[in-house]
Amino acid sequence: MTSGVLTHIQRFSVHDGPGIRTTVFLKGCQMRCAWCHNPETYHEQPELQVFPDRCIGCGACVESCRHDAHQIADGRHLFHRERCVACGRCAQTCYARSLVLVGQTKTAEEVLQEVLADSEFYQSSGGGATISGGEPLVQPDFTRDILRLCKDEGIHTALDTNLAWPWARVTPILHTVDLFLVDVKIFDDQEHRRWTGVSNEQVLENLRRLDQQGKPVIVRTPLVAGLNDRIDQIAAIADFLSTLANVIEYELLPYHPLGSGKYESLGLKPPPAEFKAPSAEHLQQLACVARNEGLTVRIAGSKPSEQAADNKYESRIPVS
Ligand code: SF4
Ligand code: SF4
Repeated sequence: MTSGVLTHIQRFSVHDGPGIRTTVFLKGCQMRCAWCHNPETYHEQPELQVFPDRCIGCGACVESCRHDAHQIADGRHLFHRERCVACGRCAQTCYARSLVLVGQTKTAEEVLQEVLADSEFYQSSGGGATISGGEPLVQPDFTRDILRLCKDEGIHTALDTNLAWPWARVTPILHTVDLFLVDVKIFDDQEHRRWTGVSNEQVLENLRRLDQQGKPVIVRTPLVAGLNDRIDQIAAIADFLSTLANVIEYELLPYHPLGSGKYESLGLKPPPAEFKAPSAEHLQQLACVARNEGLTVRIAGSKPSEQAADNKYESRIPVS
């Protein structure tokens, strides 16, 4: 049985597919989206997050670290990230929770047991398990085994993937996924490379292949005002999606500022403060453009009354 590294398992999730779900967030991602909300999933291995504003200067971390990564100087805690091997000893001694080890290793069977804890809610709500991240296919064997174990238990499965992989990485998990959740972040490849660090060619090609396989897909576009929210860009994505028969919904995800704390806790530079969500009016325009291509469109975070009347999110989700 394989094991892998995850950040956490979220129970009672209602944003990662139909019904009530358990979402498993794996660590590791090959993209570097400029607007990313989960920088703690960039790297596959565990990492130490440091939140200086919680520190009470007790010095317990200095005692516990065998690599001299912590120091108290003039009453202030200093952290030398380059010396840290992410063993987690200091986080166990830091009662102020100024130090948090993100990333835990579990076997696929252990993940399954946590997923099974909420089986009754999946049955009553049409929910199931979603494997997310990060990018789950950074850990392909672990992802495959979690999905297979869930399917063996009759649990509906969704895979939240950026799909920017050779098709050979996707085929081993195809038969274990009931629903794919895939981002088309930007249609223009140069812009996609600029803002994510990766080409979108494989994403689009693999979406066509999923269509040929008859695999249902919800496509999402995260939207940052002035970055990827031009009407012609969304029209190009919608035009492409309208050629596929397997897209059951197109979801627009307006950007939410995360605050700089999560990035700084990992020693990373946060997204520019100028990043904003498109206005509600502009989001409606974009949704209208996509609907005109025949897509069922949803704006994440909108009230049901603000969605178009033809948006039947629940009724179009297949449940195995
Ligand atoms: S995680 Fe381990 S190596 Fe890193 S600072 Fe803490 S005790 Fe030291
Ligand atoms: S153990 Fe935690 S609270 Fe104490 S000095 Fe280290 S980081 Fe600060």
